Amino acid sequence: MLKIENLQVCYGPIMAIKGISVYVPQGELVCVIGANGAGKSTLIRTISGLNKPRSGMIEFEGKSIAGMPAHRIVDLGIVQVPEGRGVFPEMTILENLEMGAYLKRNKRMFKENQEKVYALFPRLKEREGQLAGTLSGGEQQMLAVGRGMMGNPKLLLLDEPSQGLSPLMVQHLSDAISVIHKQHSVTVLLVEQNARMALEIAERGYVLQTGKVVMEDSAASLLENKVVKEAYLGI
Ligand code: ATP
Repeated sequence: MLKIENLQVCYGPIMAIKGISVYVPQGELVCVIGANGAGKSTLIRTISGLNKPRSGMIEFEGKSIAGMPAHRIVDLGIVQVPEGRGVFPEMTILENLEMGAYLKRNKRMFKENQEKVYALFPRLKEREGQLAGTLSGGEQQMLAVGRGMMGNPKLLLLDEPSQGLSPLMVQHLSDAISVIHKQHSVTVLLVEQNARMALEIAERGYVLQTGKVVMEDSAASLLENKVVKEAYLGI
């Protein structure tokens, strides 16, 4: 479904992504784990068209999308849930969900998708009329993921959803991501600093270190890998 080869991305003279290849087959949940500054957000932002690649290939369903404007990439069914949630604080939960469904085809499916989101996160239903800016961090993250689901994603890009959340909320969120992947058949690319959370729900994983892929394997093997255990799982 998504095929990235030899991707390089720069900020002026700094190369943040140094020629990486990442594959996300249809129906899989793939994660990219890495420390601060590894290039995870840059990767997500480049796929969704917010950063331009310097070189390399990004293909989605067999079509090149490298350098395509972000609104056309959303049209193709690639939906990003950004780092830091990016909810609209002065709007209610319901209005934020409406924003996630702004494309015509998604408006038609609004009710159906809204029910899916409320089943995933009942808290959002209870607080439908509350301003997003007054929600807790965990609730805002639920809303950000929910808003992403309102866009009917074929491919959902999740940028560090666990950031700043309590262990209990991380568990709740990772359960919801699993449901989105397994029950709603959404292909997911998850980038995370929380390696354990990501590898426990992913099928395959990549380890990104200062802009390079240093390891790739099944998530189960990475969880057992000595280097991963020491560097990313604190074992
Ligand atoms: P974190 O987990 O801290 O969010 P990350 O893995 O998402 O980190 P990126 O945000 O992609 O990492 O950053 C990769 C590198 O690119 C870093 O060295 C960062 O300083 C640099 N970088 C990111 N954004 C910019 C920018 N707008 N201008 C210049 N350099 C940038």
